[in-house]
Amino acid sequence: MQRRDFLKGAGALAAAGALAACGGKEAPQVAGTAAAKPRETIKWKMVTTWPKNFPGLGTSANKLAELITEMSGGRIEVTVYGAGELVPAFQTFDAVSEGTAELGHGAAYYWKGKSEAAQFFTTVPFGFNAQEMNGWLYYGGGMELWAELYDQFGLIPAAAGNSGVQMGGWFNKEINSLKDLEGLKMRIPGLGGEVLKRAGGTPVNLPGGELFTALQSGTIDATEWVGPYNDLAFGFYKVAKYYYYPGWHEPGTTLEAIINKKAFEALPEDLQSIVMNACKVINQDMLAEYTARNNSALSTLVEKHNVDLRPFPDDVLVKLKALSEEVVAEVAAKDAFSTRVYDSVKKFRKQVQAWHDVSEKAYYRAREL
Ligand code: CA
Repeated sequence: MQRRDFLKGAGALAAAGALAACGGKEAPQVAGTAAAKPRETIKWKMVTTWPKNFPGLGTSANKLAELITEMSGGRIEVTVYGAGELVPAFQTFDAVSEGTAELGHGAAYYWKGKSEAAQFFTTVPFGFNAQEMNGWLYYGGGMELWAELYDQFGLIPAAAGNSGVQMGGWFNKEINSLKDLEGLKMRIPGLGGEVLKRAGGTPVNLPGGELFTALQSGTIDATEWVGPYNDLAFGFYKVAKYYYYPGWHEPGTTLEAIINKKAFEALPEDLQSIVMNACKVINQDMLAEYTARNNSALSTLVEKHNVDLRPFPDDVLVKLKALSEEVVAEVAAKDAFSTRVYDSVKKFRKQVQAWHDVSEKAYYRAREL
């Protein structure tokens, strides 16, 4: 074969590269073809509010990092840090805002100290479920509001996971009336925590990794975390007797990815699209994973570990709902931006509720007839 014929072959460039890589001195120069520029790999750090590799939450952050690397053909490499590895869990927001890391994974309601309105982008007690939350964020104006809020911190938000309806939490005493919540020191973040306060309890916000010890030592009397899949992993059944449902306070919790705006804007358009779409994939993927795994974890908790599974009494839920409406309306009235977000939530809720009455809700009812 003539050398020039060989070079016309489809494998020419690859072969040339291979020769060069092997240290071959005769790597051919192809006329008219500029030598490919050495590709620069963009290295990003991702800080998270979760223990490293924690099932569902930490692993979804890992998946997001891997997906960005895969989809970009290796042009972006993301190193994931668990809570406390680079910064403590609750410094995730500041770390990404300041550029210590380019990416973060956590939940917006942890940042209510930055803005009360942040809580609406995670979950609202007795509010949207996962499906409704995604509808509001992507097609009901939620995402635009969230971006507007985070822009002042030099951040771009993305929905990047949803737990579905959570569990009510772990208690060492029965909850038979609202009075049983009085004086209760419970880990419950976000708006749900404000509702507990209104019911006479003391809400505490602690990162997940500290909950087992806090419950075991009696620093807290009760805790909510997520649902069976995550709660089993932390072993709460070893230090609490009752497992209450439903998670009235977190009916469809959205996890977030936060992206440093400067780092994002420095990316070419295709990589920007890859980062945002990888978040969208993970947002759906986590919900699917939780839907699939919660039930088997619940069976393990009840059958293997003899956990006492209890529903909150209806009258407790009715009162918590009334308190939730008060709390949410008051938080929404605290500043003009929170009012705008709450107005958007209410508008979408009206639409989606009317639709879900004749679809999701009617179907669940029909399935159980
Ligand atoms: Ca929770």
